[in-house]
Amino acid sequence: MTLSDNLKALKGHLERFRTVGVQNRIGGKDQDGSGGTFATVSPVDKSWICDVALGTSKDIDAAARAAHDAFPDWRDLPAKERKSMLVRIAEAIEARAEEIALCECWDTGQAHRFMSKAALRGAENFRYFADQADSARDGYNLPSPGLANVTTRVPIGPVGIITPWNTPFMLSTWKIAPALAAGCTVVHKPAELSPLTARLLVEIAEDAGLPAGVLNTVNGHGEDAGKALCEHPLLKAIAFVGESATGKLIVRQGADTLKRVHLELGGKNPVIVFGDADLERALDAVIFMIYSINGERCTSSSRLLVDESIREEFEARLTERVNRIKVGHPLDPATEIGPLIAEDHFRKVTSYFDIATSEGATVAAGGAVGDPAGYYVQPTLFTNADNGMRIAQEEIFGPVLTSIGFSDEDEALKLANDTDYGLAGYVWTNDLARALRVTEKLEAGMIWVNAENVRHLPTPFGGTKASGMGRDGGDWSFEFYMEQKHIGFATGEHKIPRLGN
Ligand code: NAD
Repeated sequence: MTLSDNLKALKGHLERFRTVGVQNRIGGKDQDGSGGTFATVSPVDKSWICDVALGTSKDIDAAARAAHDAFPDWRDLPAKERKSMLVRIAEAIEARAEEIALCECWDTGQAHRFMSKAALRGAENFRYFADQADSARDGYNLPSPGLANVTTRVPIGPVGIITPWNTPFMLSTWKIAPALAAGCTVVHKPAELSPLTARLLVEIAEDAGLPAGVLNTVNGHGEDAGKALCEHPLLKAIAFVGESATGKLIVRQGADTLKRVHLELGGKNPVIVFGDADLERALDAVIFMIYSINGERCTSSSRLLVDESIREEFEARLTERVNRIKVGHPLDPATEIGPLIAEDHFRKVTSYFDIATSEGATVAAGGAVGDPAGYYVQPTLFTNADNGMRIAQEEIFGPVLTSIGFSDEDEALKLANDTDYGLAGYVWTNDLARALRVTEKLEAGMIWVNAENVRHLPTPFGGTKASGMGRDGGDWSFEFYMEQKHIGFATGEHKIPRLGN
């Protein structure tokens, strides 16, 4: 496939959006937004893609009622049937993966090489949780004298899911698939900057046979539709992926209705490279984990902590490689970095170029904008930085890496943990004892040693500190979407205390 092949295919896929826009999907029906519409724009050339239904609290209320009405039947459907349904959704995603990938690239600016994989990962999320649906309700047998105590799990009820604009299709499936497998119904509020593939997802799911009202999608702004979702009394939980500052709002907004809340938030993840590491592999991983997916990735290794004994050599090789990264049209198969999502975010990311120099860091690579036709920036490397600088503490969320030297293991750990965040960490060393010591003390929800972020769906995914609350993956997802229920059966030997004799 060439750029022109991809552009041609994209044109066909966008046609329907241009004609009817992106409508809300509530109770199996297309609905206009009660707030009118808003435009979604491509970051590739700042052009209008289509109009999108602007949902408000009124639409959220309709969607919550639809999810509430659909809940009993979906909950009571035999798990085997829910499983078959989710497998059919996975197959339908696979069949339309190319359409999803192309729309995602155009809507978000992400390079096609990564989005084609992300679309398939969406199918994998459905397959994985489909396979778990059968056993999701299993509990424990915890006998005590005179009582057979068993536990079972039941779906918590209709839930709200709020997702961000980075890899939006994959992340939506990561939250929605386990909710459906558990037996919950869903109201999904996708990010306003990336509405296209959320629309494709609900359509694919319903075409595959998902009953009306089991998955509802309402577009709109966070402070309006998103807030209403958190406050709605019929929704029992909110699964949120987004910024840490928004996460705090989610908790506050959910407080009056005592919402169960799951937060997957931001990160400023350290990658620690010790002098004894396999530097060739470390270099590949450092580059991949900050410059792939435009650096718009919660687990990006945005802080490089590098052993002083190898710092100069490592930074020199890094600079050379960063300068060779291909920035370009996201639909060009050769492109490694596409444009950033939108103007505001572009301004935010590029503001750090001045911040870095005013703080005294060196711009070793990049540090400038790219093609002004879209929201392009050059992949950037800051050196001569220290951990107190804003470029070392704030989540820039772009292809921007800050490199900081350390002189020993204690200092590496101190720097790594000196951040509000605690999502992911990466450690490069060939010393096993050191790897064990460092991973034990590193404050992060997920750590990889001598590897980049390699997801294995049964393992727990989530952050500590300002990076979140709760875990996804494997049974952890079901822990969130389900309630534990205790049932005690007296066996007859148990004596009941008697009053009033
Ligand atoms: P954001 O917090 O601005 O928006 C995320 C979603 O929340 C959007 O749908 C938005 O409309 C909604 N929202 C905004 N205000 C709201 C409110 N008051 N009430 C309810 N909903 C509201 O985040 P973003 O800029 O879209 O995404 C980037 C952020 O997401 C980064 O910080 C990134 O690290 C984080 N992220 C975290 C993970 C993870 O797994 N930890 C994964 C991906 C992204």
